Amino acid sequence: MDKVKLENIRQTQKAHPQHKTEPRDIFCRTCGQELVEEIVTEEYVCSGCRHLVGIDDDFCWFCGSKLEQTGRVEHYHRGKQLTDGEFVTKKAKVLNNERLSGKESPIPEPRFHTDR
Ligand SMILES: [Zn+2]
Ligand SMILES: [Zn+2]
Repeated sequence: MDKVKLENIRQTQKAHPQHKTEPRDIFCRTCGQELVEEIVTEEYVCSGCRHLVGIDDDFCWFCGSKLEQTGRVEHYHRGKQLTDGEFVTKKAKVLNNERLSGKESPIPEPRFHTDR
C-alpha cells in the first residue's frame, strides 16, 4: 500500500479586538491588514484503510499492509479534497465560493483511532 501524505490546510482568523471585523472577512475593515492565516499540518495515512500512520512506520498498524513511500500528496483545504495539480489554481476559487455561498462543506477527515 502507499503511504499517502496529507496536507491539512486550515484557515484561522487573526483577531483584531479593537477593530470592527466580521467572521468571514479576509481583510480588516479598519486597518486593512489580512485577517486570514493558513495553517498546514502534515499527516500520513495508509492508502488501503485510510488510517493515520506514523512517518517512520513501514507497516500499517491497523491493517498490516506494507507501506511504500511514493511521495503521493493529498491536500485538504477547508473540507475540500484537491489533487496536487488543482491545488494552486482552485485555492482562490474555493475561498471565493465559500465567501459567496456563506456555508462550508462537510470535511472529509482521515479516520482517527485513539483507542489503539
Ligand atoms: Zn485591524
Ligand atoms: Zn492500513
